[in-house]
Amino acid sequence: MSKSLTGKTALITGSTSGIGLAYAKALAGEGANVVINGFGDADAIEKERLELESLSGAKALYSGHDLTKADEIEAMMAQAADAFGGVDILINNAGTQHVSPVEDFPVDKWNLIIALNLTSAFHTTRLAVPYMKSKKWGRIIQTASAHSKAASPFKSAYVTAKHGLAGFTKTVALEVATFGITANCISPGYVWTPLVENQIPDTMKARNMTREQVMNDVLLAGQPTKEFVTVEQVAAMALFLCSDAAANITGANMSIDGGWTAQ
Ligand code: NAD
Repeated sequence: MSKSLTGKTALITGSTSGIGLAYAKALAGEGANVVINGFGDADAIEKERLELESLSGAKALYSGHDLTKADEIEAMMAQAADAFGGVDILINNAGTQHVSPVEDFPVDKWNLIIALNLTSAFHTTRLAVPYMKSKKWGRIIQTASAHSKAASPFKSAYVTAKHGLAGFTKTVALEVATFGITANCISPGYVWTPLVENQIPDTMKARNMTREQVMNDVLLAGQPTKEFVTVEQVAAMALFLCSDAAANITGANMSIDGGWTAQ
């Protein structure tokens, strides 16, 4: 049976875990072929890949390319083009975090975060847009963050990368507006994923707090709902942005942050 995204191909960076995997499930469930990317245990990734294929019968392909390197991004996009002709839906989602006062911020962590959270989206976008233009249809979606709109101390690289991603997205949206292509950011607040869990120890150290204090006084302190956002809620927004109903939403930055950036 044909579904809303049957015949489309979606490439989702950083989709072996967390929010990215939820996007892949939502899009595959609507009939899209998906290219998943990221690191992790090979057997676990193969299991996820087969599960994605079982959702609607569309194909799922795994790319283990390292998105901090331009040549590897080129190889991933070529792999997607060989398999499916090109990418109709591009979701730039791969990201990482490091928490440290600016004066101690390790230079290699700064460079990693800018390369993965910001520059990789430039490379995937420049490589995806020609095919989308030829099809007169495309969806570019970035997982930005509440940190694309507001700052928090000790996250200088992440906040810089996410603000940059928001500006990049607006620029691309203007360039492709007459080609049936939209470009938007989704900006979650705190979503319970490995990325959030992994920053708890460093935040405990940077702020001299217990685990409970970090959870309640840092992570959920700024989120008025006092709830973590779920990966399924973020994926549902991406599905909506892929629909025809969202054809005139472009250059937007959609918050899903429990009211964080309303303050
Ligand atoms: P996650 O750690 O669960 O997933 C990150 C993914 O990126 C994984 O698949 C990982 O293998 C992949 N990855 C890491 N380094 C890579 C590399 N060099 N090349 C290719 N893939 C690589 O994290 P998540 O919480 O699901 O985060 C996904 C996105 O959502 C990130 O951009 C993050 O900044 C953003 N975000 C997360 C939250 C949150 O609270 N979790 C909030 C706002 C925004």
